[in-house]
Amino acid sequence: MMQNQDVKKVVLIGTGLVGMSMAYSLLNTGGIDELVLIDLDEEKAKGEAMDMNHGLPYSKTSMKIKVGTYQDCQDGDIVVITAGAAQKPGQTRLELTEINAKIVKSITSQVMASGFDGIFIVASNPVDLMTYVVKKVSNLPANRVIGSGTILDTARLRYLLSDFLNVAPGNVHAYILGEHGDSSFVPWMNTYIGCKSMMEYIIEMNIDMNNLHKIYVDVRQAAYEIIKRKNATYYGIGLALNRLIRAVIDDENAILTVSAYQNGEYKQKGLYIGVPAIINRQGIAKVIPLQLNNVDQRKFDQSCQTLKEMIINQINNIINE
Ligand code: NAD
Repeated sequence: MMQNQDVKKVVLIGTGLVGMSMAYSLLNTGGIDELVLIDLDEEKAKGEAMDMNHGLPYSKTSMKIKVGTYQDCQDGDIVVITAGAAQKPGQTRLELTEINAKIVKSITSQVMASGFDGIFIVASNPVDLMTYVVKKVSNLPANRVIGSGTILDTARLRYLLSDFLNVAPGNVHAYILGEHGDSSFVPWMNTYIGCKSMMEYIIEMNIDMNNLHKIYVDVRQAAYEIIKRKNATYYGIGLALNRLIRAVIDDENAILTVSAYQNGEYKQKGLYIGVPAIINRQGIAKVIPLQLNNVDQRKFDQSCQTLKEMIINQINNIINE
């Protein structure tokens, strides 16, 4: 699985704003020996490699950055897929399904043809469905196909809660569950400040629950608000993908909310969706099942239903074409 313990190699497919934000973030934090860039627009990938390499003399880390081909995936530890169309102002992620499923299917086939035997990380949207496509087309074990899921939504939630409650984000334990999209939700009964229940905390502090609900709405709408202003979102997801890569490469056993294959941990099966999971060198080592109350279980089921309908009506046809 980890191909060569000495050389940590990541292949990035899709050198657009998201992919290159991740690459730039990796250059700054280090920890990866080799980064290979692949894009349909080869000239763009070349330009990106040149630009990144020119920064190396001023970087505190070293990383070999080059443009490659699918053959480079053969001994890659991780292949990250950030290729495909991005949301336009007002567009939902689910509206990208058809175009991106075809792109992601073709990319996955080419990666697998190289003999790749590592871990996929998928960020192209709608990410839960694209992760499902990669799993089905690659036929790799489900734990070795990870979607970025709600890792970014969770970061947005923790940032906003931290700001509102004046508690360091590292001590805010709150997750966004469900689809990375409009049917996501916060299981508030499972949120903590340090080791204190958030619900107890806000009662003691006389904080109205509506404030927390508004924070959730702001998280859910964040991508729309950012895209309206600057056409794309990329720094947040770039840092989130860096976090995920390092959790795998450094065998961290970190708990992150990723799109993970469901095997009944949340009473659902046969799809990828955002849940907290332990991430290490095996990929998704374990989904952490939370005890959801009836209201939250209904929200989770509804989010799964949205994705399952898309799988039946669109995704399976594209996979089987
Ligand atoms: P972008 O348009 O800047 O870049 C997309 C890149 O994909 C382009 O360079 C394009 O040439 C390349 N590409 C297209 N088809 C390809 C193919 N068949 N093979 C190889 N490369 C191909 O877009 P972006 O802003 O970087 O967004 C990329 C994806 O990430 C979108 O689907 C977007 O919705 C998604 N995204 C996900 C999250 C998340 O939280 N998971 C957050 C932001 C964006």
